[in-house]
Amino acid sequence: MSSQWIFLGGEFVKKENAVISVYDHGFLYGDGVFEGIRVYSGNVFKLNEHLQRLYESAQSIMLNIPYDKEELTRIIVDTIRKNKLDTAYIRVVVSRGPGNLGLDPTFCSNPQVIVIAEALALFPKELYQKGLRVGSVASRRNRPDVLSPQVKSLNYLNNILVKLEANQAGVDEALMLNDQGYVTEGSADNIFIVKNNVIYTPPVYLGALEGITRNAIMDLAYKHGYDMKEAPFTRHDVYVADEVFLTGTAVEVIAVVEVDGRQIHDGKPGKITTHLLNEFRKVVRTDGVACYESTSSSGKA
Ligand code: PMP
Repeated sequence: MSSQWIFLGGEFVKKENAVISVYDHGFLYGDGVFEGIRVYSGNVFKLNEHLQRLYESAQSIMLNIPYDKEELTRIIVDTIRKNKLDTAYIRVVVSRGPGNLGLDPTFCSNPQVIVIAEALALFPKELYQKGLRVGSVASRRNRPDVLSPQVKSLNYLNNILVKLEANQAGVDEALMLNDQGYVTEGSADNIFIVKNNVIYTPPVYLGALEGITRNAIMDLAYKHGYDMKEAPFTRHDVYVADEVFLTGTAVEVIAVVEVDGRQIHDGKPGKITTHLLNEFRKVVRTDGVACYESTSSSGKA
C-alpha cells in the first residue's frame, strides 16, 4: 500500500484508489487543463501565477473549475501537508469530467479536480554543469489561432510528438519553430539566447507558452541590470549565440551547449545562465505561498 494521498472527487484518496472514469473527456479527448508547480522547502513557488494561468486556460475552453482560487489554494496546501512534503512537484489537473462517447462537452456535468503531490529534489548538479544537447524538429509548434499555446490543456500531443523526434535524434530536448520558421520553445520549456550581453526570448505570440519561470527569469534579468528583450529570432541566431538556456518549472534554468550539432560558444554553460540560475534559486523559497507555519529547516508541520 502506498502512503501517497491524492486529492480527487472532493476528498483525499490513496494513490491506488485514485482512478477516474473511462468516460472522462480528459481521458477520451484531452479535454481539460493542468498546471505543474514546484514546492521548495514548503514554499509553493509562484502559486498565484500558476492558478491565474490555470483559470485562464479553463476560461478559454469554457471549463468551469468548481472551486475558487482561494479554495484551490487551500486544497493544494492541504495535499502537500497531508503527504508531509516540503520539496515537491505538484500536478493540478481539471478535466471536463465524465460524459458520453460524443465530443460535446455539454454532457459532462461534473468536472474533475485532481491534485497530485510527489517528492522532488533538485536535478543532479552534473546536468547543470554539462548542459543539454538540443535539436530542432520537423513538427511545428501549434499555431496560436489553431490551439493556443497559452491554453495549458491536457492535449499535449504537439509536445509529445516533438519529444519523440528529439528521442529519435538522440538529443535531450526539442527546439520547436513556428510555421514561419521562428524559434518558439522546447517541448516543455522556454528558450533564451544571449548575444553580446543582451538576453533575448521569443515573444509568446510567436507560439510559446508564457512560462512562469520565463517571466521570473525576465524579472531577475531586469533586476540585475541585464539588457533583456523579447524579440523574434531564428535557428541561425541560436547557433551563433554566446549562451543558450531553457527555463521551466521542472528544469528551472539549464544551459544548452549544442544545437543541431553546432557547439554553442565554448560548449560550456555561460556566465549569465549560471548567474540567473543562482539568483533564481535564491527566490524560490520565498516567492509564493508557504504551506507550513515556519518554512525554515525541514519545513514539515
Ligand atoms: N512551454 C511548455 C510547452 C511547457 O509545457 C512548459 C511547462 N509548463 C513551459 C514552457 C515552461 O513553463 P513554466 O515555466 O511555467 O513551467
